[in-house]
Amino acid sequence: KANRKFHPDDSVIDVDGVKIGGGNFAVIAGPCSIESEEQITYCAQRVKAAGASLLRGGAFKPRTSPYSFQGMRSEGLDLLKLARRATGSPIVTEIMNTEHLPLFENVDLIQVGARNMQNFELLKAVGRQKKPVLLKRGLANTLEEFVMSAEYIMAEGNENVILCERGIRTFETSMRNTLDLAGVVMLHKMTHLPVVVDPSHACGHAWMVPELAKAAVAAGADGLMIEVHNNPAKAKCDGAQSLTPDQFDELMQFVSKEVEFFGKKM
Ligand code: PEP
Ligand code: MN
Repeated sequence: KANRKFHPDDSVIDVDGVKIGGGNFAVIAGPCSIESEEQITYCAQRVKAAGASLLRGGAFKPRTSPYSFQGMRSEGLDLLKLARRATGSPIVTEIMNTEHLPLFENVDLIQVGARNMQNFELLKAVGRQKKPVLLKRGLANTLEEFVMSAEYIMAEGNENVILCERGIRTFETSMRNTLDLAGVVMLHKMTHLPVVVDPSHACGHAWMVPELAKAAVAAGADGLMIEVHNNPAKAKCDGAQSLTPDQFDELMQFVSKEVEFFGKKM
């Protein structure tokens, strides 16, 4: 179902009125984690004003250490829904457990994170419901494995899948991961699904994010996912890679022109 051979036209995924793919470009932005009502609402207003069409915010966080902040969980989802009401921006957040699906009823785009890319029971569960799914590439997965994970969701009946390249593990240590932009080009050959790029998790350094975001647009990405925090130095998670709202404004001014240059609509 994901194979380009059998579906030559690009798929356009509709996330509560926001279209992604087939010439439609969308920016997903917001903090790594929801930390308070003021924090998520402020970030929501700022990223919307800058031109982002979708709001992200993590509530269930897949942290490497069990002693790190684990997210505000269902309370965080409630705050994210408040921010949605305040701004009208559709919301994107990560699910880690099939049992949490009922909590995601008012979420517009359900994210399956890199660490769960091959959690096949979770893929089947999000495939059995109708909301679109943002599937992130695993830390060390091939493109073939990535597309097969999308296939797991689609095989259950939900064909609204957006792929996200977020960097993979290589021998390089100066960056958190290595952004595979060639993979974006290859994915567009392999599949008709939209591909968005997350330069924030790919590199781990806020100062690098703008250049990688611009390169992603040039490589044909259908969208971007950018971490933006009201106060990166105090962020509970991923502050080092988060842009300030002002930095995000500046990036969006460039990206909007670039998207237009490449003939896409934002
Ligand atoms: C995230 O988007 O918050 C996240 C945890 O990303 P990834 O699954 O790509 O590491
Ligand atoms: Mn993060």
